[in-house]
Amino acid sequence: MSAIRTKKLGLTGKILLGMMSGIIIGLILRNLFPESEFIKDYITEGFLNVIGTIFISSLKMLVVPLVFVSLVCGTCSLSDPSKLGRLGGKTIAFYLFTTAIALSMAILIAIAIHPGQATMVTESMHFDAKQAPSLAEVIINIVPTNPMQAMSEGNMLQIIIFAVIFGFAVSHIGERGKRVAALFNDLNEVIMRVVTLIMQLAPYGVFALMAKLALTLGMETFSSVVQYFFVVLSVLLLHAFIVYPTLLKLFSGLNPITFIRKIRDVQLFAFSTASSNATLPVTIETAEHRMGVDNKIASFTLPLGATINMDGTAIMQGVATVFIAQVFGIELTISDYVMVVVTATLASIGTAGVPGVGLIMLAMVLNQVGLPVEGIALIIGVDRLLDMVRTAVNVTGDTVATVVIAKSENEFNEAVFNDTQAGKVAP
Ligand code: ASP
Repeated sequence: MSAIRTKKLGLTGKILLGMMSGIIIGLILRNLFPESEFIKDYITEGFLNVIGTIFISSLKMLVVPLVFVSLVCGTCSLSDPSKLGRLGGKTIAFYLFTTAIALSMAILIAIAIHPGQATMVTESMHFDAKQAPSLAEVIINIVPTNPMQAMSEGNMLQIIIFAVIFGFAVSHIGERGKRVAALFNDLNEVIMRVVTLIMQLAPYGVFALMAKLALTLGMETFSSVVQYFFVVLSVLLLHAFIVYPTLLKLFSGLNPITFIRKIRDVQLFAFSTASSNATLPVTIETAEHRMGVDNKIASFTLPLGATINMDGTAIMQGVATVFIAQVFGIELTISDYVMVVVTATLASIGTAGVPGVGLIMLAMVLNQVGLPVEGIALIIGVDRLLDMVRTAVNVTGDTVATVVIAKSENEFNEAVFNDTQAGKVAP
């Protein structure tokens, strides 16, 4: 009987169950044994840390081989260079367009709600900002000097550039190229299989991650910046559930409800890992097998999106900048706001798809408009939770773009998109 029930729950249900029970058990333990060294050493940093970290590592382990192999497959099938150029142009334009909407919305809502009024600046506030890279460095770093080093460091943009050039060459050497392409296609299947295997571990990994978070994050951290938190959260939700579905409908005519249903697993993975990169295997799997996006498109647009398209991060940076200006009583002019839009767009492009980087890149935006970087100390306490939500928004944006572009390029299988059972991972 219980076996039947667990079966019915499906993978999404099990992940949700893992998430909820992790939070509840974590909070109960925290309240029952607030000062316990045993809980800290053996449960939080021991058991939960081991399971949670292994889960994230097993996802990350796949990212580099998956992006490289999948993108080589995608590019070899796009042998026409003009098509590759058009696809790149369209993808980047769509990403910039959605980021601009996200930022404008974030700034306008933050100005209207004025979350910064309520908070007092404290003397003790201090934040050591890490050095954010300059724009020139961001551009120069796109081309790898050593592709193997790029792979070992997981430098996504460099891997993308190398894979595109490699795949392009494979498609231009005739028969021998076809053999190489066939090998890469087989490798791609193998990696996809590993992804589905790892997804089975998700409920346990998510449980451990959530329980650890509930044990380490105190409720008290949340009180002073509650307003900021809710403004960012509402803009994130608005973007994910109103703006994206509207764009999807407008640009592709597809049913947004079907999209929202099918993107759920990807969002849950992004939420629990707070990393667009770690979620990438699941995003690609879902786009290809559940949404009907052809590998040619998904393998190119999704890794690129996980690297440069961070609408959720841009939203946080927009609201945070306005909030910090308000808290410190600094008036921003219209040209300051324009500067915030430009630098936050660049900062979100430069943000790596790993936990917490958005906050480091915020320093670049604050510097640019002359706001105190120490302001970051105010919001750091709630950033972990917002990081989880904004990562879910980031990956949703990547997937919307992929679907829209695949549809416009006629590389889209609408029957798969409309079939509720398509590509479902067996629980
Ligand atoms: N965690 C975010 C992501 O991976 C990046 C950030 O905003 O910190 O998409």
